[in-house]
Amino acid sequence: MEELLLFVLFVLCTGSFFYMLVCTDSNSKTPMGWIRRIIYTKGPHLIKQQISQCRKIFGKKFYEKLHNLYQYIFYTNNPIGQILYILIFWSAFGVYYKYGIFKHFGNTPYVNHIHTACGAFIFIFCNYIFYRTCTVSPGVITSENCEDVKKRYEEYYDEVLYKSNQTCQTCKIIKPARSKHCRVCDKCISRFDHHCIWVRQCIGQNNYKYFVIFLFSHIFLCCYGVLVGILCLYGIAVKLQLFKLTYKNSVTGEIHKATAFRVFSYIIDKEPVFVFVIFVCLIFSITLIAFFLYHLNMIKNDKTTNERIRKNDFQRAYLTEMQALTEYLKTHQNDEAKKRLGQLKQCWKSLNNGKYQGLVLGLKKIFSYM
Ligand SMILES: [Zn+2]
Ligand SMILES: [Zn+2]
Repeated sequence: MEELLLFVLFVLCTGSFFYMLVCTDSNSKTPMGWIRRIIYTKGPHLIKQQISQCRKIFGKKFYEKLHNLYQYIFYTNNPIGQILYILIFWSAFGVYYKYGIFKHFGNTPYVNHIHTACGAFIFIFCNYIFYRTCTVSPGVITSENCEDVKKRYEEYYDEVLYKSNQTCQTCKIIKPARSKHCRVCDKCISRFDHHCIWVRQCIGQNNYKYFVIFLFSHIFLCCYGVLVGILCLYGIAVKLQLFKLTYKNSVTGEIHKATAFRVFSYIIDKEPVFVFVIFVCLIFSITLIAFFLYHLNMIKNDKTTNERIRKNDFQRAYLTEMQALTEYLKTHQNDEAKKRLGQLKQCWKSLNNGKYQGLVLGLKKIFSYM
């Protein structure tokens, strides 16, 4: 029993670690936010420091090469994320195929070859959706379409975060509400959500739907892999009659029936690679489900990842102004100040809760963008 608890604890810890990597806010004051800050903000900085040290030891030329590599990895639109995704996804599927599908499917009463076909189909579908998410333009704003995009998002101008008279400093075109200039892609993106290194481009107005399907299809494949995998393992236990086994306690001489955990340990010994790959699927399922729910919640509240992150910018820039205005209006009558405070309050409210629109309407909106 203790071992089972440890196992559950391990799954939860690994799952929350991955959840922290993708979902938590770097500026949040929780322990998760603190760890994330170290990994994302301090990590690259530490690497940079170590590279600087190399200059003294290995000379200028080596340092320059290392520095260029650092710049390439962290600050350019490189295919490292895509290559990593394909490596992880394909090798996990390959291992599952060799040690699971090829060996057990059809050989146990619980899993037949229909699942081989279904698994292969979902795998191909996941690859197709990955391709679409990578290649469908997120919605680049140009001088030709900026007026149209501006009109589409007119209602989002709050004159605090999105100002109706603002232009992009780099592209020199109007900045529609909800858009952002991505520094990695060097383009203005409509309904900017975030820049995704795994697909080597921004997630914006036009490819957000593919991103959502991407998450859902991968969750489906991982959960399917876990379920069918467990059925295979159960089949092995039944075939070998492991549940009927007994063992003798060497100290007391008592005969015990094999517990589920003992059966599980025996199976791990017999099929270590298959159990490991099922475990990997389980961890990915937990992480992706958390990430997916996080996005569904944002869709429900009509909010983007970028807007969620901007909450901290707002706190830094406008919270003091808000407090000062509130204090001022206690003793003075000023319509301008009242209007400004109203704008700030509205913006703060929408940054915290978004504009609730419900999941169905939110999804409808996202899937209607072309
Ligand atoms: Zn721009
Ligand atoms: Zn980008």
